[in-house]
Amino acid sequence: MAKRLIKIFLFLAIAGFVGYRYFYYVDRDSNCFIKIKPSYLEFSASNIKEGIKILKYAVPEEYEKLCIYVDTINPNISCGGFQGGCYSFYNDNVKEIDISTANHDFLSSTASVIAHETCHAIQFQTYGREGIDEKECYAVGNKVMTAVIDF
Ligand SMILES: [Zn+2]
Repeated sequence: MAKRLIKIFLFLAIAGFVGYRYFYYVDRDSNCFIKIKPSYLEFSASNIKEGIKILKYAVPEEYEKLCIYVDTINPNISCGGFQGGCYSFYNDNVKEIDISTANHDFLSSTASVIAHETCHAIQFQTYGREGIDEKECYAVGNKVMTAVIDF
């Protein structure tokens, strides 16, 4: 009986560790916690974490905004399509963005898409639907893309 309990405990501990490791982006120093929803694209979550890290070091001010205005990333293909992103104000959570970039060769574009969708999250949380403006967010995305390539 005790052996069985130990096994169950070990299983739960490992499952908890794996969940923590793969489904959360955690940066205690910056007080940044972002939940990454489970994805059927196997490499998506780690790809997104790498993209966030690149954003942190290449464009710290955009990283700071991400940590404030976004608390959930959905890595499944949604309205943004494959290798894209999307912000939907019909979501229950206005701090959720969709990022479906599962390709490790394009981490600069992952960072750029994250910044672009964060820009929409800021627009909506600050000004509501009227605030949604693509031009502003494409400018942010381009800025990040350039900064990451120069980094
Ligand atoms: Zn957009």
